[in-house]
Amino acid sequence: MEHKFDYDVVIIGGGPGGYVAAIRASQLGLKAAVIEKEKVGGVCLNVGCIPSKALIHQAERYQSLTEMEEMGIAIDRSNFQYKRVFNKSRKAASTLSKGVHFLLKKNKVDLYESLGTITGKNEVSLANGKKITGNNIIIATGSRAREISGFAFDEKYVLSSTGILMQETLPDRILIIGGGAIGVEFAYIMNSFDVEVVLVEVLDRILPLEDEEISAALTRAFTKKGIKIMTSTKALSMSVENGQVSVNLQDDKGRHETIAFDQVLVAVGRTPNTSGLGLEEMGIKTEKGFIQTGDYYETTVSGIYAIGDVINTPLLAHVASKEGEIAVEYMAGLTPPKRLDLMAIPSAVYCEPQVASFGYTEWRAREESIEFEKASFPFRGAGKSVAVEQPDGMVKVLFDPNTREILGAHVIGSNATELIHEILLAKTAELLPEDIATMVHAHPTLSEAVMESMRAAEGWAIHI
Ligand SMILES: Cc1cc2nc3c(=O)[nH]c(=O)nc-3n(C[C@H](O)[C@H](O)[C@H](O)COP(=O)(O)OP(=O)(O)OC[C@H]3O[C@@H](n4cnc5c(N)ncnc54)[C@H](O)[C@@H]3O)c2cc1C
Repeated sequence: MEHKFDYDVVIIGGGPGGYVAAIRASQLGLKAAVIEKEKVGGVCLNVGCIPSKALIHQAERYQSLTEMEEMGIAIDRSNFQYKRVFNKSRKAASTLSKGVHFLLKKNKVDLYESLGTITGKNEVSLANGKKITGNNIIIATGSRAREISGFAFDEKYVLSSTGILMQETLPDRILIIGGGAIGVEFAYIMNSFDVEVVLVEVLDRILPLEDEEISAALTRAFTKKGIKIMTSTKALSMSVENGQVSVNLQDDKGRHETIAFDQVLVAVGRTPNTSGLGLEEMGIKTEKGFIQTGDYYETTVSGIYAIGDVINTPLLAHVASKEGEIAVEYMAGLTPPKRLDLMAIPSAVYCEPQVASFGYTEWRAREESIEFEKASFPFRGAGKSVAVEQPDGMVKVLFDPNTREILGAHVIGSNATELIHEILLAKTAELLPEDIATMVHAHPTLSEAVMESMRAAEGWAIHI
C-alpha cells in the first residue's frame, strides 16, 4: 500500500513525552519520527529529573559523612570538589540521553535533530527548509523556567533551574524563590553541601499543593537542618552590588527586609514552549499559555495532538509519557482511556525526607465537600525505620467512610517515593485499606508502615 504521508506520526520534541510516544507508536506498527532541536530526553533527562536526582544522591552521600564520623571515622573534607559532583550529574544525563538515542534507533524511529514548525495540517518544516509529512502530529515541546518581574535570569546572579544544574561551583549563600518541588529539592541539595539557604514562598506553606500535615512535617525537618523558610513572603526586587545580590523581601503584613546573597534561584513554575510553532496559523487554541486538548490529547485541530508540559496537566515526566502513550494508542486503533485519571497520578519530591502522594489532600477534600476519614502511622512504629536511623516520617491515608475507597495517600520519610506505589496500585485495582492491612509484609521493612497505616484505617494498628 502506498503511503500518503512520510510518517503515521511526526512528533515535535524528544522529551519523555515525545520519545516515549514515538517508541510506543513504533511498537504498535506506526511509522514515527521525532524532531528535537536540542538533546533527546528533553528537560527531564538533560536539565531536570535526572541530573537533579544525581545531585540529591551525591548530597545524601556527603551528608552520610557525618554519620561516618559518629562511627569514629574522621573524614577530611578539605579536598571536597563540587565540580566532581557536578560531573557525575552530567554523566548520568549524557548516559541516559545516549540511551534514548539507542532506543529510538532500536525501535526504528527516525530522529531529526532540528527545530520543527508546523506549516500545514499534516506538515512539519525543519530549520533547513525540509518538509516532513505525517498522518498525525504530536506537539511535545515541553516547558522552560518561568521568570518573574525584577528577577530576569542572567544565570550568574539570578539562576533558573537549568542555570543551577549547570553550575560547577557552589555559592556560600543562596536565596531560593519558590517552595514547590524544584525549590525544595534545591534547598535540600544546597543545604547538604553546607550552603546557607533561605527559601521564600509567597503562600503560607512550602509544597502548597501537598497535604498541610506533610508541608508542616517537611518544614520542621528543613528547619532542623538549618534551612531558613520564610512563608507568606514575596521577593519584590533586587540589585547587584560588589558581587552580591541584595533582595528586598516583603511579608504579608507589608514588612520589608533586605538580605544579601551570592545568588538567587527562581523556581516559581514553568512556561509552556508554544511560540514559533505555527499554532496561531493552524488555529490551534491555547488557554493561559497552554495548548488546549480534548479526548486523547487532540488539539482544536483534528489530527494534531499535544502532550506533556505544553498542556495544562501536572508538569511531570511520567504524566508526559503516559499522555504520549494514550495519544498514539488511540491513533493505532486501541481504546486507551480518553484522559489520565488525575487522582491516580503520583507526585514525588526527592529531598530528604522524601515526599510522595496521590489523590485527595485534606484541604482539597474539604474544598470539594468530599466526605472522608483519615488514618496515619508514624515511621518510628516500623522497626526498620529505627534500625536504619530513619524514624521521622509517616504514612497517611484518606478514605471514604462509607465505601472505604482509598481517596488519597501521603507519605513523608525515607523511600516515600517508592512506598507510595503500593497504595496507588491498591487504589488502581480498587482494593480497600483492609486488603493492604491483611496482606503479609516482610519484616522489617518500611512497607510495614504502609500496612500499619491501613490497619489504623481499620482501627487495629499494632505497633502504636
Ligand atoms: C529541575 C527539574 C527537576 C524535575 N524533576 C522531576 C522529577 O523528579 N520527576 C518528574 O516527573 N518531573 C520532574 N521535572 C519535570 C519534567 O522534567 C517535565 O515534566 C518533563 O520533562 C516534561 O516532558 P515533555 O516531554 O513534555 O517536555 P520536555 O522534557 O521539556 O521536552 C521537550 C523537548 O522539546 C524540544 N523542543 C521544544 N520546541 C521544539 C521545536 N520547535 N522543535 C524541536 N524540538 C523542540 C526541547 O528541546 C525539549 O527537548 C523536573 C523539572 C525540572 C526543571
